[in-house]
Amino acid sequence: MIHVLSPDVYNRIAAGEVVDRPYSVVKELVENAIDAGATQISVEIEGGGKKLIRVTDNGSGISKEDLPLAYRPHATSKLKTAEDLFTVQTLGFRGEAIASISSVSETEILSNANGEAYSLACKGGELGEVQAAAGARGTCVTVKDLFFNTPARLKFMKSDGQEEGDVSNMMARFLLSRPAISFTYTVNGKVKYRSFGEGLKEALAAVYGANILADLLEITADKHGIKLAGFIGNRNFSKPNRSYQSLFVNGRYVVNQTVSAAVSNAYAAYLMKRQYPFYVLFLDVPPEIVDVNVHPNKADVRFADNQIIYGSVYSVLSAILDGNSRALEYLAPRAGGPAKPQAVPPSSPAPDAVVPPAPAAQMTYEQAKKELQFDVSPLAGRTPEPRFFERDPVKFEVRSPEPPREDFFAENQKFLREQGAKQERVDVKSLEYKGELFRTYLIYECGDCAYLIDQHAAHERLIYDRLREKAEKRAVVSQPMLVPYILEVNAPEFAFLEKNFGLLREIGFEVGEFGGTSIKVSAVPADLSGVDLPSFFGEILGSMESLRAIKLPDLLKDKLASAACKAAVKGGEKLTDGEARSLIERTEGDMGLKCPHGRPVAVKVKKSELEKLFKRIV
Ligand code: ADP
Ligand code: MG
Repeated sequence: MIHVLSPDVYNRIAAGEVVDRPYSVVKELVENAIDAGATQISVEIEGGGKKLIRVTDNGSGISKEDLPLAYRPHATSKLKTAEDLFTVQTLGFRGEAIASISSVSETEILSNANGEAYSLACKGGELGEVQAAAGARGTCVTVKDLFFNTPARLKFMKSDGQEEGDVSNMMARFLLSRPAISFTYTVNGKVKYRSFGEGLKEALAAVYGANILADLLEITADKHGIKLAGFIGNRNFSKPNRSYQSLFVNGRYVVNQTVSAAVSNAYAAYLMKRQYPFYVLFLDVPPEIVDVNVHPNKADVRFADNQIIYGSVYSVLSAILDGNSRALEYLAPRAGGPAKPQAVPPSSPAPDAVVPPAPAAQMTYEQAKKELQFDVSPLAGRTPEPRFFERDPVKFEVRSPEPPREDFFAENQKFLREQGAKQERVDVKSLEYKGELFRTYLIYECGDCAYLIDQHAAHERLIYDRLREKAEKRAVVSQPMLVPYILEVNAPEFAFLEKNFGLLREIGFEVGEFGGTSIKVSAVPADLSGVDLPSFFGEILGSMESLRAIKLPDLLKDKLASAACKAAVKGGEKLTDGEARSLIERTEGDMGLKCPHGRPVAVKVKKSELEKLFKRIV
C-alpha cells in the first residue's frame, strides 16, 4: 500500500535523491525492483540511457489503485512513521524517485500485482489514465527521452558512450553486490551482462569474464567484529587503473580512502607504480562505527575509527598475500601479542592438545583498537593521484624531492631541441663494431672516438620512428595472429576502446567486439609482432582518464608508440654481431638520437679523453 508521507515525517528524512543522469535513474529503478523482492531483473538502455531506460522485474508489483500514487511525490509503501526510519530495511523510502523521474521524461509503469496487469503513463509530470494491459507478475518501468523538457540539464549530460559507461559500471556493481539476483543488462539491443543469481563467483565471471577467477583469492575473515569477505587479485595480478576495485560496506557500494590505502599497502611489495590491485570486498561493520547519514547519491562512507578499519583490512589482506597466515603460528610471537601461546589450564582434559591462540573475536572493540597501532595519518593527508600514487607511506615521506614532472619534460624537450640543432651524423660505414659492455652498451669505433650505444634506447627509437611514419602515411602492415587475443575489460574501458577502434586500426591492429565487454585482437602491426598485448593494452587503459579530456588521436598515437618500446630489445639481452651491426645501420648514423622518453641513445667517448684519464696527455 502506497501512501503519502505526512510533512512531519517527510521533513525528518535527509535530503532526497537527485535524478540527474541516466545512471541515477537506473539506480533508482533497480533499487525499487530489489525492494520489491525481485529475483530476476532486466535492464535495457539505448542511447546511453538518454533515449530509453527499461527496468523489468518479477517482484511484488504495484496494484491498480496504487499506480497513480507511485507517481506522487513523498508517496511510499516502505515507511509510515518517523520511528520506521530507524528500522527501515529497504533501499528506498523517500518516495521521490518515480515522481522526479516522471517529471523530466516520458515514463510508463506496467505492473501486475494480483494477476491482472495495468499500465499508467506520465509525460513531463502529466499523468495519463490507468489502462488494462498484459504482463506477467512484476513491474516494468520504461523511461523515454530523459530531460526532454529541461534543456539545461540535457546539456550537462556526457556523450552517449560515457553515460553508457557509467550505467554499465553501476550495473556491474549491482551484479556483484546482489549475487543471488539474476540480472540481464542490455545496451542498444546487445546483452552486456547476464548473471543467473548463482553466487559471487558467477557474478564475477559475468562482469569480468570467467578467466578472472583463476587470478583471484577468496577472502572470508572476521576480525574484531569486522567481517571481511570477497575476492582479491593474487599478488601477480594487477590492473592498469582503479576501475577494478569495488567496496561494499554493509551492502552499499562506497569509495573509501582508508580501505583503499589499506589494500594498496598490503600489495605494496608486489605491485609497481601504476599497477592497481583488483578487489571486490564486502565489509560488514558494526553500525556504531559507520556513519550512514550521508547523501544517498554520494558513494561515500565515514568510519568513526579509521584505524581499526585500516588495521583489519591491512592485516587480513597482507596475511593472505604474504602467505604467512600459517607460518605466523610457528614464529616467535610478539610479546603481549594475541598469538602468544597460553599456559594450558591444569583442568584441561587434553594437556597435549594444541592450544589455539586467543581468538580475536573475544577481543572487545576497545582492546582491538589498542592492539592495532597502525599510523594512518600520513595516508590521510595524501591525495590519491593515480599516476604517481605511492604505496609506501614511509618511503614517500623520506624520499628526497624530485623536480616536478613538467620541468623534467620541459628540460628534456629543450635538450632535444639543442641536440637537434647541432646534429651529429656519422657515416655508418665508418662505424666499426667492437663488442658490448654489460650486455647493454654496444661499442663502435669511428676515427678517434668511440660511441657507446644503449641497445634498448636505440631500438626503441627506431621502432617509434617507423611506427609513427607508417601511421602518418597510413602505410601500416598488419600481421594476422594465429590465435586471436581476447581482451576482457570492464564496461567503461570497453566503451573507451571501442571509441578508438578506428585509431587502432589505422595503426595496424585488427580489433572488434567479441561479445559482452570482450575485445578480439586478430592482427597486430607488423612492427609490433612481438608486443606483449596485455601490458600494451594495459598502458592504453592506464591513461584512459587523462586521454578522455585531451586531444585523443595525437596522444593515443604517442601512447601506442611508447608502448611499442616494449617490443624493443632490453638491456641485458645479448645481441649477435649481425644484430648489433644492423641496429647501427638503421640509425643511419644519427648519433644525436634520443629514445622516445628523452634519454640519449649514444654516448661519445673521445680518444683524447681516455688519454687524459691515463695521463698520457694532460
Ligand atoms: P520509494 O522507493 O522511496 O518508496 P519511489 O518513488 O522509488 O519511492 O517508488 C514509489 C513507490 O512505488 C514505492 O514505495 C513502491 O511501493 C512502488 N514501486 C516502485 N517501483 C516498484 C517496483 N519495481 N515494484 C513494486 N513496487 C514499486
Ligand atoms: Mg525508490
